[in-house]
Amino acid sequence: MSLQENQGFNTRAVHAGQAFEPRTGAVVPPLHFSSTYAQDGIGNLRGGYEYGRGGNPTRDALQEQLAALELGTHAYSFSSGLAAEDALIRALTRPGDHIVLGNDAYGGTYRLISRVLGDWGIGNTPVDMANLDTVRSAVAANKTRFVWVETPSNPLMKITDIAALADIAHDAGALLVVDNTFASPYLQNPLALGADVVVHSTTKYIGGHSDVVGGAVVVKDAELAEKIGFVQFAVGAVSGPMDAFLTTRGLKTLGVRMDRHSENGQAVAEWLLERPEVEAVLYPGLPSHPGHELASKQMRSFGGMVSVQFKGGEAAARKVAESTSVFTLAESLGGIESLMNYPSEMTHASVKGTELAVPVNLLRLSCGIEDKEDLVADLEQAFSAIP
Ligand SMILES: *Cc1c(COP(=O)(O)O)cnc(C)c1O
Repeated sequence: MSLQENQGFNTRAVHAGQAFEPRTGAVVPPLHFSSTYAQDGIGNLRGGYEYGRGGNPTRDALQEQLAALELGTHAYSFSSGLAAEDALIRALTRPGDHIVLGNDAYGGTYRLISRVLGDWGIGNTPVDMANLDTVRSAVAANKTRFVWVETPSNPLMKITDIAALADIAHDAGALLVVDNTFASPYLQNPLALGADVVVHSTTKYIGGHSDVVGGAVVVKDAELAEKIGFVQFAVGAVSGPMDAFLTTRGLKTLGVRMDRHSENGQAVAEWLLERPEVEAVLYPGLPSHPGHELASKQMRSFGGMVSVQFKGGEAAARKVAESTSVFTLAESLGGIESLMNYPSEMTHASVKGTELAVPVNLLRLSCGIEDKEDLVADLEQAFSAIP
């Protein structure tokens, strides 16, 4: 089928970049492993394909699908989320440029910007993105090239107004980059709200099955696209064909999975809210969450990520993390299986002792697509282990 612009998310997810193979009619486009392509005479390429780092049909199919779902014009797929971020930053910044990012940004993003790219002259200021006045003055204080936000943020689940942030960035001649990993393109489309660049760790909801590591950059501007595409080609941290294939397969079911993730996240958050052991539940689907109204406007629903803080401090959080059986204690998120993570020693260990450190009484839950009754029952038995 040919894809039309007004088609719904799920139709685009299933069909964008996924035309059947013309020779055999194979409904699923074949997985192309070839590292090189035959030329019909020197420089006479078939369909523009020359060498696997520069182009691969399986990767192109994923990139087309990603662009269609993020409402962008171009998407570039990489071997990891951090490889995508690195390519983006190297493509569009130069020594002396500055990045203003959320003070609860993903630890690996902060590590890349501060400890790798810092040595190449890229400055950074972490700020509370929910406080727009603070953002505005941090942007003005330096030669800011990027405002970089995650919303919902990881793991504090703060919600930031993407449209307002885009205005702040653009007024200062900067670009707004949104890490849309937590929401996924099904729940939120930052480019439509004014952002210039979307980055993803496709390892999480987009792949969705915890079986592939990958990343992507999506833009809606041809000039930015050309620069990012050049770094993808010239540096070469591309996704391999098998990774691209698995990511495409996951992305086709993103909508149905996210509906269930959101339903389960809401149920778990509401259950946690009633528990006496709990100090705070951080979930934008709760009316008590400070970002609830904003999230209702800029997101389709609230997703499967829930953070919880315990009155019993670090000991209680650690006990629960080590007492579940449906939730698996593991890094990462966004897969069909529920995961539990203790950020201060796991995903965010790299920012321990910095401004970005995560409270030690906090657990982050990635609610999978299992039955919500079983998730709640698992938490209930784990809570009974708290001393
Ligand atoms: C995991 C993650 C990343 C990094 O992606 P990798 O695929 O692990 O390299 C970046 N941002 C967020 C929000 C993440 O959760």
